[in-house]
Amino acid sequence: MSWDLIVIGGGPGGYTAAIRAAQLGLRTALVERDAVGGTCLNRGCIPTKALIHAAERYEEMKECETFGLRAEGVSFDYSAMCARRDQVVGQLRDGVERLLKGNKVDRITGTACILGPGRVQVGEKVLEGTNILIATGSRPALPPVPGLDLPGVLTSDDLLTGDTFYRRLAIIGGGVIGMEFAGLYRALGAEVTVLEAMDRILPTLDRELSQSMSMLTKKKGVKLCVGARVEKVEQGPDGLICTYTVKDKTETVAADAVLVATGRRANTDGLCAPEVDLGLDRGAIPVDDRFQTRVPGIYAIGDAVKGSIQLAHAAAAQGINAVSMLAGQEPPMDLSVVPSCVYVRPEIASVGRTEGQCKEAGIPVKTAKYLTGSNSRSVITDAGRGFIKVVYHGENGVILGAHLLCERATDLVGEFASAISRGETLEDMARVIHAHPTFAEAVGEAAEAGLGLSIHQLNR
Ligand code: FAD
Ligand code: NAD
Repeated sequence: MSWDLIVIGGGPGGYTAAIRAAQLGLRTALVERDAVGGTCLNRGCIPTKALIHAAERYEEMKECETFGLRAEGVSFDYSAMCARRDQVVGQLRDGVERLLKGNKVDRITGTACILGPGRVQVGEKVLEGTNILIATGSRPALPPVPGLDLPGVLTSDDLLTGDTFYRRLAIIGGGVIGMEFAGLYRALGAEVTVLEAMDRILPTLDRELSQSMSMLTKKKGVKLCVGARVEKVEQGPDGLICTYTVKDKTETVAADAVLVATGRRANTDGLCAPEVDLGLDRGAIPVDDRFQTRVPGIYAIGDAVKGSIQLAHAAAAQGINAVSMLAGQEPPMDLSVVPSCVYVRPEIASVGRTEGQCKEAGIPVKTAKYLTGSNSRSVITDAGRGFIKVVYHGENGVILGAHLLCERATDLVGEFASAISRGETLEDMARVIHAHPTFAEAVGEAAEAGLGLSIHQLNR
């Protein structure tokens, strides 16, 4: 049997591409060695957010006196939380399976190896296809620190498939995974230490977002060590001992588990027969702007691609564009605007350029800031401090970026993504009526702040 397209990998990049390809009339096969949904659904986005949602409700129950409520004997059962997590994952996975079937994508189970253009081996069988799309994703990358092979040294895969709760958690890496787990574990009362090599947590984000999150996280009792070089992990008499150096001073932290969250690397080991040379760069696949690798007829998207933004929605959008072009259509998705979110409390979201990036690019830039403390819905919900920072062109007011740290930031960022994608100005954003009282009113207020016309915040 042969296909128009063979997709390798059933994560959000691969399954989205396969479904859209089938919708566009391409006879499509999807090869996946494990469960459909990939990292995102099985070991990433979904299980983390299911656990974080539960932990935040637990925190809220403990804080409910603010609202005149009383909850006594509030406690949690971590294995029940994990059972709920697994139920959510299972439900969404079944949904993906149904969609693949309903769209007549042929699902093939096994590990794929590309033998050459149009030829993919899965077990004993050789599949034939006009084109091949690689969407094999990524896995945790471990730094060369002695002791990371000890029992109790874990990756996000382990924490998201197991159901053990650790009372003392040391986290190597203060990036997105590190900070989401720090928030989750601290909300449940664990002793948490984060060891970050750079001079700030979440170092790829706007500096002000990192600084504010750092302050709020410390206030919650998480120990944050930045500029930390982890030397080794050893088994001590009472758990694991993590030795690290900060400013030439050597320190240790004892923990029941050590989470290593220091980035991810592409899944390309054994993906191609020796004669198929994709020109891998540290395992990642270089592609052109049509997602074609250097071998004609072999394309790649998602986390496996060199320089990719490792996000589920980016992988899915790339998949849609790649297969649309293969079907002879214009790519429909705007890949230049990719929102990114961190599910901490309050939430963080970011889209477009930071002020620093604009300055580096020589763009005359201005910023406006709206403090969400004066948003009425935030006051009603006791959301605490937060802000929305809008980055815009100093001459024409076109919105270039938005950086949010506030309740529902992960939803509000969508409005800025739309505005940036459409090339809208502050005036365009300020023209839209937002319902009252909502968190979304803060979006209009942030635009008004840029125009010096804020109603609910003193204009500076
Ligand atoms: P993957 O999802 O990794 O899927 C690749 C698939 O290919 C896997 O199922 C794998 O089994 C299969 N495969 C690999 N090699 C082969 C082979 N040779 N043959 C057959 N099958 C193969 N992103 C967000 O946008 N939002 C979030 O909130 C978020 N949270 C995250 C939390 C964690 C803890 C982690 C680890 C990641 C998170 N991400 C999040 C990132 C997101 O999961 C990835 O960016 C996304 O899954 C990448 O999609 P993909 O399709 O490229 O690859
Ligand atoms: P990351 O790149 O976000 O963070 C890794 C952090 O580890 C960085 O801050 C880095 O400076 C630090 N680091 C690297 N080596 C170190 C060392 N030896 N010692 C101490 N610190 C070290 O990577 P991640 O947190 O592993 O997440 C991987 C990817 O998964 C992210 O890039 C993101 O795209 C995706 N993800 C997204 C979400 C989300 O969208 N909410 C959540 C989790 C993960």
